[in-house]
Amino acid sequence: MPIDYSENRPKAAPGLVLCRDLLSVTEHDGQTDSEGFYVIPSSGDGVIGRFFTLRDMENDTPNIIVRKTVYEKLCKADRALKQQPGYKNCQIIVTYGYRSPAIQRAIWDQFYAEKAAEHPDLTEEELREETHRIIALPEVAGHPTGGAVDVIIFDLKKGRFLDFGTDIGEFESKNMDYASDMIPEIARKNRQTLRAVMCGQGFAPYDGDWWHFSYGDKEWAFYMYSRGGNEAEKKALYRQKEKSEISEIAYSDKFKLKTAESEPEHKVRVRLAVQKDGRLTEETLSILRRSGIEINQDRRGFLARAENFPLEVLFVRDDDISNLVDAGVADLGIVGENIYWENDGKSAIKKHLGFGKCFLALAVPKGSDIRTLQDLSGKRIATSHRRLTAKFLKEREVRGAKIIDIAGSVEIAPLIGYADAIVDLVSTGSSLRQNNLEVFYNILNSQSILIANRAAEKNAAKSEIIERLTERIDSYLVARRYKRVIMDLPKDRCGEVCDLLAGLVIGAPAVLPSYGSGNWAALQVTMEISALWDNTAELKKYGAANIVFYDVEGVVK
Ligand code: AMP
Repeated sequence: MPIDYSENRPKAAPGLVLCRDLLSVTEHDGQTDSEGFYVIPSSGDGVIGRFFTLRDMENDTPNIIVRKTVYEKLCKADRALKQQPGYKNCQIIVTYGYRSPAIQRAIWDQFYAEKAAEHPDLTEEELREETHRIIALPEVAGHPTGGAVDVIIFDLKKGRFLDFGTDIGEFESKNMDYASDMIPEIARKNRQTLRAVMCGQGFAPYDGDWWHFSYGDKEWAFYMYSRGGNEAEKKALYRQKEKSEISEIAYSDKFKLKTAESEPEHKVRVRLAVQKDGRLTEETLSILRRSGIEINQDRRGFLARAENFPLEVLFVRDDDISNLVDAGVADLGIVGENIYWENDGKSAIKKHLGFGKCFLALAVPKGSDIRTLQDLSGKRIATSHRRLTAKFLKEREVRGAKIIDIAGSVEIAPLIGYADAIVDLVSTGSSLRQNNLEVFYNILNSQSILIANRAAEKNAAKSEIIERLTERIDSYLVARRYKRVIMDLPKDRCGEVCDLLAGLVIGAPAVLPSYGSGNWAALQVTMEISALWDNTAELKKYGAANIVFYDVEGVVK
């Protein structure tokens, strides 16, 4: 049955459950607590389990495990999801289930310390509640019972996660409520659908995090009680388990805990280093996404796994990327050429990616007495690119200039009397203008590049993955220049137009009959958008009309 969205509060503020409430829930009932744990399968079309980040990988168990009933309910929720209009090809992916009390405590301590630093004025109890909004108080937490799960929806056909407006665990965001009105309509619908199918199976939602649901834990017990249960029912079914206790619970053969080694899938992964937070980050992740690779980054983690490709993404400072790839800590990197050359990169440049374009400029204050390169002699040059600056000066035989290392805000160095000239990256030039500087010399053109560790390229398993990744990126880079173009043409001019476009299109043009009109045909081609604009006037001369074009997702030649 389709979901009635009117049942969900559209804009209400989330009714967050306080730890105070959860502490009032009574302990488990011994009988229900003896229920065993199941391993959620890690592949297939039904509900599957995949950890998202390294922090989780270092977690207790190699696979995601939950209580038996929880697993059964997840399977039912997955089937219910597939019944919803528009979700036929989707599956529920569980990104977290059981977590040991020790890990819960460690994560809690970390967030509590952060909150305490952020709000020095809060009382201990207020801090506890504030932290509990992000990570459950260890004493009442659901994950250690095996009853709580974090879930998301994956589109099997499109090979990507549905849009939920934020990533799982995007704690900085204020938009974690399932009914948030600060996210796109489609993301809200996805959150509400997930909630409806999970709650339909008796899970309790957590209003603070759209991905978190539980059954049988204190959160669940309180939720059920607050929806009209009586005080005696304010009782959790499951109690928290130490990791050592779990291994004592009998597993059915079918669901025996797999070890990491028995997991055949993606044994070899290639590690790609990307900028953690900066100019290149968004475009880098977008290229991966557009190449069909889904990365699920917990913003706090430094390592994330691709869901559908044997790739791991390491998030680091961009200054470190080239060195990390050279050292083999990462197999691949996406980095600005400037960093690669500055660090005297030893890795192979696989591809120029066409974004992050800038140039390394030698700039001087307007009206400066530096008029020729030789005038730099005896002058101070501030830069974060010492090596490239020194190389440039040497090649131009400029002697006696003093290079001053400065990490950030290079452009203010002349203003504050720290230097006479600078060598810095420039893209639009507005920052130079603001600081009364002008470009004197272009030392190096830069854009982002994909680099590969040379040993990784020689490793058979890794090189195969690197080639596949490069092919995908290639396909996207080609595709983004192209459009699929459709136009109406008089039938008798199709031949001439095909001749005109020969050499500009990928593959052969298609000429299709137009409905209801004897004299018209529809011509379809894939061509570069720039070539289309160059030729529109000419096309019109042949009678072309209604020229429609749309994006191409990829081109595999
Ligand atoms: P950032 O995020 O500022 O550390 O810059 C990261 C990288 O972006 C640099 O290493 C350059 O490769 C590239 N980039 C592109 N345009 C600029 C610019 N105007 N200033 C600095 N870096 C730029």
